[in-house]
Amino acid sequence: MTSIESKRVQYRKYLERAGVIDALSKALIKLYEEQNKPEDAIRFVRKFMCESCPDDAQYDVMKNDLEEAKTHISKLEQELERLRGQIKKSPEEYQELTTEGYKSLIDDEENVSSLLRKYLTPELLEEYMLVTTPAPVDAYLYDCAVSGFEHHDAPVGIFAADADSYDVFNKLFDPIIKDYHGQMDNESDVLQKDPDFGNVDEIENLDPERKYILSARIRLARNIEGLPFFPKLTEKQFIEVEEKVRSATETMDGELIGSYLTMADIDAETQAEMVKRHILFQRGNEKLTTAGCYRFWPTGRGVYHNPAETFLIWVNRQDHVHIMSMAQCGDLGDVYNRLVNGLTELEKTLAFVRHPRYGNLTACPTNLGTTLRASVHIRLPLLSKDPDRLLALAEELQLQVRGTDGGELATVEDGVMDISNKRKLGFTEFELVKTVQDGVVALINAEEELEIAGQES
Ligand code: ADP
Ligand code: MG
Repeated sequence: MTSIESKRVQYRKYLERAGVIDALSKALIKLYEEQNKPEDAIRFVRKFMCESCPDDAQYDVMKNDLEEAKTHISKLEQELERLRGQIKKSPEEYQELTTEGYKSLIDDEENVSSLLRKYLTPELLEEYMLVTTPAPVDAYLYDCAVSGFEHHDAPVGIFAADADSYDVFNKLFDPIIKDYHGQMDNESDVLQKDPDFGNVDEIENLDPERKYILSARIRLARNIEGLPFFPKLTEKQFIEVEEKVRSATETMDGELIGSYLTMADIDAETQAEMVKRHILFQRGNEKLTTAGCYRFWPTGRGVYHNPAETFLIWVNRQDHVHIMSMAQCGDLGDVYNRLVNGLTELEKTLAFVRHPRYGNLTACPTNLGTTLRASVHIRLPLLSKDPDRLLALAEELQLQVRGTDGGELATVEDGVMDISNKRKLGFTEFELVKTVQDGVVALINAEEELEIAGQES
């Protein structure tokens, strides 16, 4: 497309978005329908357009009405969730839903890449269809796979509805986990090593001169023993998780001291502003919605943080807790130290589920093991000009490159990328943080070499 054409297209889109095309079309239709065509057509159009738009006072009333309607809709949606939650599906209904869901997944010849599709054979489906995890959760295979049945483009397509799902549906979860995490050791009983946070002092400030790294963050996910994961949490249990975390944070010490805010008490504007500053989460995508992640929203959701916003706990984002430590610089050592202290404090009060084979359990099989993601937001302008080389280097260094909103590389804004460990399962916490340290240092070195080369040429 030439640049003029593309400008034209953009302009047309803008006019459509702003409602100009719609308003003009209506006026022209009105004029067309007029039996006695007016002498002064322009005046007719002008008058019509003025008549059809509200004055300021009317506009304010309409805006208010809209806000009220939105609040009302959201209340009704919550009520609907609540009622839906009370309806217990019969085994026959589960059977029917599972059969239909599986059929639509398998019949789709365009979206064939989900791990659910790859590993859920007709035999396994038959075997697991009417099996449930222990009472009172009674999770069916359908409760785990509903999102993958509906969204065929999901890379994985399955969530554990509770800790027992990993064992009860093991012949499905195990190959998915090994495929995703690249653990080819079929014989070993243990895929995840014992927790080992190592010597925190070996992790350092990766960018003392603050030239490249804007911020560093490490997060862990945990689920509280004895409660189902988000797909099967009841409304009461969402609140129970929140209460447990809230009271566990009351004994925090020193720089970990902070306060807990429940989502319902944070107004929409503040929420948006906190999300932008990376200290709060919001509702996620359709796949998580179908999996049941946002039932009863905002009930039981919230955030604990210290005044410096360097230590945070997100409650019921997906897993019961996401524990995070952050710094607005490249001091990964400081971040790691604080994270370990925070986790140690929480573990004094809360018991988290751990699996003998998979380590820490999370609802999403991709987070299992250490559940640790250590990331830096970093700007490497010269390296970024050669994405192929950057991605190849990252791959070699066992790093993952994302946009700063957690999305694909395509969403990189202003040259800032999110670079983190790719692996989560099969290594110790220390090994993963060390990988990020070594890898980020290597990337910075590569950037510096390009700077020097640029100065010489
Ligand atoms: P995770 O799965 O590790 O929680 P997401 O990619 O979903 O990470 O991001 C959650 C939030 O954390 C987003 O607002 C993201 O921008 C922010 N975030 C991630 N890494 C960093 C970092 N190094 N510095 C600042 N914010 C970060
Ligand atoms: Mg994430």
